[in-house]
Amino acid sequence: MSKTKETARVVIIGAGASGIAAGTRLLEQGFRNVLLLEAEDRIGGRICSIPFADSLMDLGAQWCHGEKGNVVYEFVKDLNFLERTGDYYKNVQFVRSNKDKIVAEQSKIFIEIAENSIPNKNVEFYGTEGDYVKQKYWQEINEQKPSIDNTLATEFLESFLKYECSVDGCDNLFEVSNRNHKEFIESDGDNLLHWRDKGYRTFLRLLMDGKENQPNDLGKLNGRVLFNRRIAEIKWSQCNELILRCWNGEIIQADHIICTVSLGVLKEQHSQLFVPPLPRSKVRAIEGLKLGTVDKFVMEFQVQPLPADCVGFNFLWLQKDLQEIRSTEWFWLESVGSFHRVSHQPRLLEGWITGQHARHMETLTEEKVLEGLLWLFGKFLCFNIPEPKRFIRTQWHANPNFRGSYSFRTTLADDLNIGPWDLEAPIMDSLNKYPKLQFAGEASSKTHFGTVNGATETGWREADRLSQCYTTT
Ligand SMILES: Cc1cc2nc3c(=O)[nH]c(=O)nc-3n(C[C@H](O)[C@H](O)[C@H](O)COP(=O)(O)OP(=O)(O)OC[C@H]3O[C@@H](n4cnc5c(N)ncnc54)[C@H](O)[C@@H]3O)c2cc1C
Repeated sequence: MSKTKETARVVIIGAGASGIAAGTRLLEQGFRNVLLLEAEDRIGGRICSIPFADSLMDLGAQWCHGEKGNVVYEFVKDLNFLERTGDYYKNVQFVRSNKDKIVAEQSKIFIEIAENSIPNKNVEFYGTEGDYVKQKYWQEINEQKPSIDNTLATEFLESFLKYECSVDGCDNLFEVSNRNHKEFIESDGDNLLHWRDKGYRTFLRLLMDGKENQPNDLGKLNGRVLFNRRIAEIKWSQCNELILRCWNGEIIQADHIICTVSLGVLKEQHSQLFVPPLPRSKVRAIEGLKLGTVDKFVMEFQVQPLPADCVGFNFLWLQKDLQEIRSTEWFWLESVGSFHRVSHQPRLLEGWITGQHARHMETLTEEKVLEGLLWLFGKFLCFNIPEPKRFIRTQWHANPNFRGSYSFRTTLADDLNIGPWDLEAPIMDSLNKYPKLQFAGEASSKTHFGTVNGATETGWREADRLSQCYTTT
């Protein structure tokens, strides 16, 4: 009997943005047998809005980056959920490890030079993004000399490189390919639109058409998501029937699988997960692309500890202080980028850490991490920040269901001549008629990797790919 949209069994692995986008789209297109298997006990994946302090806090994705060409923005633009952040964070102060505060006029000069050092789409160059930024930055600084203080210029460059790592999701900019900036398409408009006091989960609710104020209502996906179902093995060869084995031993059969697990999970688990192993081109893509680590710190206070005129602060390390902490237990604090206020959360501070020091931080106890951060505040600030009422740090890398935060293009990917298109390529059935095994998720997006809008597009892409086969046969 030939399969139809009513009878075909589609299993989606993962209920993050891409899995939810794929699932809801398939149902809209007439598929009836759609099941999502999720390893965690919640939907959302790297969208994780939790009740915190005076409203919600996003531990993963927080902002809708841009308007034009951003499917998240397009989906919600008439519903008044998003609020502009505008230039708010431009006023974050720069403080040095000797407690000096850099005056705003001075920091503006450095920020402008640093931002102009980011390669734009028309720039042709070979090498890494880090090489380019460093060279452009110093070229401009040297042109402006003698009005510029070299020591401060070095400290600003270090701080900016850290900030860019949190944007790209990399350990350092010297592993990021120039194609990262060339092929990523920025959406015009406000780049930091936030979800007021509702959190990014609002977007998922709208995708599913779930009821407001009922976080457990999955709308169109009610009854179609199985939680705590971590997939241990996917048998995808011999015949056209696919067999999934969960960690709890449960066996599930399918005609089509859409795999949305993160690049980090694929990197760690692909050789055990897929039986037989994935084709060489797919493995090269998994190995060549990279998922970096970006973690957040969230602190709730009785009252906001920052002075009224302070939105937040970036850390500028004096070289001698940096050398000093590198041989102490606080070495990881070097990669803490900034702390700032959070919209609609008057008593909160949010901080950021990236790269290998973030991964080290994840291995420490929460008490030890907080102790380190309070030490850092004491070293840099000339006002006191008390112990918070409540503290959270994220552990996106330590969690085996993520193994990192968001993906980027490496120089290795360029050397291997691989990219998201290799991750995207479906594995077809023996007649080359239907896709058996499909791949979605932010890392498979050619133009919007590392974002929720990119992840959503890939979920829709794979649902459309499957639907197309059933429409044309
Ligand atoms: C700290 C942080 C900040 C971010 N900030 C932003 C931002 O401001 N704006 C923005 O656009 N993007 C941001 N992002 C990126 C964005 O969150 C992701 O790109 C997007 O959510 C990824 O969605 P996805 O569906 O591709 O993957 P995921 O959300 O990772 O979904 C995959 C799902 O698969 C599940 N899974 C994994 N392994 C298995 C298994 N073996 N079996 C079954 N299920 C499994 C996981 O539990 C997960 O739910 C941020 C991410 C992080 C971590």
